[in-house]
Amino acid sequence: MPSGQRQARVPGVVVQLDRGLPLVRLEDGRLLRCKHATALIKGEKIRAVIGDHVMVDALEDADNAQICEVLARTNEFVRRDPAERSASQTLAANFDTVIIAHPLAELNVRRLERELVLAHETGATVVVALTKADLADEGMARENEELVRGIVGPSNAVEVVSENDACSIEALRSHIPEGSVAVLIGRSGVGKSSLVNLLAGANVAATTPVRASDGKGRHTTVNRAIVPIGGGGFVVDMPGVRGMGLWESDAGIEAAFSDVAELAQQCRFRDCTHTNEPGCAVQDAVATGALHPRRLASYLHLVEENQAQREASEEAQRIRTRTGHPRRRG
Ligand code: GDP
Ligand code: ZN
Repeated sequence: MPSGQRQARVPGVVVQLDRGLPLVRLEDGRLLRCKHATALIKGEKIRAVIGDHVMVDALEDADNAQICEVLARTNEFVRRDPAERSASQTLAANFDTVIIAHPLAELNVRRLERELVLAHETGATVVVALTKADLADEGMARENEELVRGIVGPSNAVEVVSENDACSIEALRSHIPEGSVAVLIGRSGVGKSSLVNLLAGANVAATTPVRASDGKGRHTTVNRAIVPIGGGGFVVDMPGVRGMGLWESDAGIEAAFSDVAELAQQCRFRDCTHTNEPGCAVQDAVATGALHPRRLASYLHLVEENQAQREASEEAQRIRTRTGHPRRRG
């Protein structure tokens, strides 16, 4: 770094990642392409992600801006690859809401359950957007919406959206108030980028948008970015989030099904399976209509899946130890 140059340490937010290089918005609105300070990358290998609040050493010569500190995150969106448990990757930080985009006409209950766990694990508010509603006929739409409401429970919002229904987009927008950041997750092709574009409307600036249409209705992801939307909120599209398979997440299940977990504490038996035991507060709640049977089914399924996953990874660990190849990275 050339000496004698004036240097200021200023706060900013990472609004875009372009092949690992953060674009930071400073408080005065200036956008700076930054490198990571060597000290950050060397020691604990800290890398700033979308949404990170950072301190930047901004030289007058803006080409040499460096992130020198990543401030503590309020929450994180972490992608975990169940096949390789050591490899987890933080994709975004400091958001208020996770919007799960799931197609209304092609419900995949098992996948939705996992998306709920993943979303709730972050501690953010969770909203389910049932997309491409125009592709479902009326009967199916009603049935599927009710099913999803049953599964996600009364304390999470469910919005039925369609790109040609402006009201539905506004309803979704109302969950992203001024100054708040929403992360959009969901399988590829469910309509996430269409939602981002609709939410952003005319506010999409040249630096933010993320997709270019090839005229055939297909889109290409260029970057991951925080996109400002009308009304003062922000949206982050999480294209291609894989790793939606099994992983151990007691905390995520507890968070996604906090009502069931709470009821379970009142069961007569501590190890109640909530299936056929007497004095089961969970079954009682289903009987009185306080708990949707589909929600209980999802909870029980996830608990079982989680248990199977735990046993599988413990077994893998035992084999590694026995063969003298203890897991190195962790
Ligand atoms: P992403 O991969 O989740 O970002 O999905 P896209 O936004 O790229 O959408 C995938 C495809 O679904 C595209 O061909 C869109 O034109 C189409 N699509 C998106 N939203 C809607 C909708 O509300 N209705 C219908 N019929 N098609 C939609
Ligand atoms: Zn019980």
